[in-house]
Amino acid sequence: MSVVVAVSVGLMIGVAAHPVAPVDVAWNKGSGTAQMRKGLPNPPGWYQAAVGPRSTEKVLYLTFDDGPSPHTPRLLRILAKHDVHATFFVTGGAATSNPWLVRTIHRQGHAIGNHTWNHPRLTQFSTERVRSELVRTRKAVGPAMAQCMRPPYGMVNERVARTSIAAGFQPVLWTAHIEDWAPHSLAWTAKRLRSDTRPGAVILMHDTHSQTVDAVQRMLPQWVKQGYRFAPVPVCD
Ligand SMILES: [Zn+2]
Repeated sequence: MSVVVAVSVGLMIGVAAHPVAPVDVAWNKGSGTAQMRKGLPNPPGWYQAAVGPRSTEKVLYLTFDDGPSPHTPRLLRILAKHDVHATFFVTGGAATSNPWLVRTIHRQGHAIGNHTWNHPRLTQFSTERVRSELVRTRKAVGPAMAQCMRPPYGMVNERVARTSIAAGFQPVLWTAHIEDWAPHSLAWTAKRLRSDTRPGAVILMHDTHSQTVDAVQRMLPQWVKQGYRFAPVPVCD
């Protein structure tokens, strides 16, 4: 059973220059770690809202969560070498600790999305706390912040999504998650990336792990050879 949540620009509060386009989010009940493990985050409508219609175009949306971290500068050098633009979902806490990295990410043409201040399970928060996590993070990042957010752990329900959209941030989930928070080998991580590669994939990684940076370094030439191009998630761009 699903419902459709239509949130229009008219509902938005406190977003000035570039209002988020109206979106329809077809909603399934709940979300969370079970879906995350299966790589099937809800709601199914998020992809259309964040990326657009499914297509067979060979484009990959690389996304890096939880940073910036001490591993981010090396990742940025690798991405720049291949002229790749990605999306970084930063936390307010990490952004405040690494303001120069936030500036560098932005200057190199990547999109910066909102990953909350403190990485909580938003579904357990009041509407006001959800909103303040997002607004506080936007204040820390400043105008470089795009109008998209990724809910920590993929935990999003209809209320969290509506609150996020009203605060100016479209939820962005993923089609592939390489589970790089665990200490896997480079070979394992690269293999996961290889098997998750398909046209239009939104790939969740973390720029807080050196093996992730190694795996991206290994995979980029292979992806390029296969004819893939790279872009920030469209709604974040
Ligand atoms: Zn995260």
